[in-house]
Amino acid sequence: MIYSFEKTDPAKTRFVGVLRDNGVEFELIDKDRAVVRILGSPEPSVRRSLIQVYEGRRKLRMEQSNGDLYSSLKRSEELTIIAGPCSVESEEQIHAVAGFLREHGVGFIRGGAFKPRTSPESFQGMGESGLRIISEAARENGLRVVSEVMDRSQIDTLCKYADIIQIGSRNMFNYTLLTALGSVDKPVLLKRGMAATIDEWLKASEYVSLGGNEKIILCERGIRTFEPSTRNTLDLAAIPMAKMKCSYPVIADPSHAAGRNDIVIPLALASAAAGADGIMVEVHPDPNAALSDRNQALTLDQFKVLLQKLRNSPTGS
Ligand code: PEP
Ligand code: MN
Repeated sequence: MIYSFEKTDPAKTRFVGVLRDNGVEFELIDKDRAVVRILGSPEPSVRRSLIQVYEGRRKLRMEQSNGDLYSSLKRSEELTIIAGPCSVESEEQIHAVAGFLREHGVGFIRGGAFKPRTSPESFQGMGESGLRIISEAARENGLRVVSEVMDRSQIDTLCKYADIIQIGSRNMFNYTLLTALGSVDKPVLLKRGMAATIDEWLKASEYVSLGGNEKIILCERGIRTFEPSTRNTLDLAAIPMAKMKCSYPVIADPSHAAGRNDIVIPLALASAAAGADGIMVEVHPDPNAALSDRNQALTLDQFKVLLQKLRNSPTGS
């Protein structure tokens, strides 16, 4: 079970005291909030004491959960668009994209600095210097940054530079990483695991929310099926299903679903029609030169067409 406390809550010390006094194993993550993950199964009498100390805290958190950036992501009239390269590769690349996004009224830039690549031989990302590049370009152009965290050890670095922290498909089942993100005060964009059911995806989100971070954005990015002509199969039904089952914004990433840029636009339009609160797409100034996911990246011109189509469609922004 996972419990969460405001940083200065005196009950945190009492709660941890009960665990220590009774020899219960636990893990404490102390960031913007403190998250306690209890290991093993405490005796009923110990559980009762813990509940007594903890009483009422979860409810309190729920009432405080609405941050400005996060609440703007829930679709009212505007569809949120997040665009950018798969990976941060250079200042020139990011500045080209960032300037283009500003010119076209897009508020969020994406770009991975820590990359979960299928092959260890592939480009692994620029690390912190990549985050510095994307956050500077974002600041100059009035954009917000979305970037992926792969490991708990990277959380503090991500928090320094990114506005929204992405958990990739490969990490959706990484419960220790999810738990640790419950302790930070930044929205978390949780991609669906490529072989995860909708329920498993929603349960994964509970690891973050139980830690006290309820600024969760769900992202459908395609699932593995028997169909080989696309990288994954975009599960359009997952968009309204997830929206029925929770109150988080649900966005779609047609780029990783398609794996090829020639069908990203229709899939993005279909996602908007299915009720997505936002669309995240990979865009590169020169896709052929991209160091990761080059086949699925839209050119800037193709992205412009997508924006026009989304803006002209009754379900778009
Ligand atoms: C990405 O967004 O570049 C990425 C690695 O996505 P996914 O985790 O969905 O494969
Ligand atoms: Mn990618």
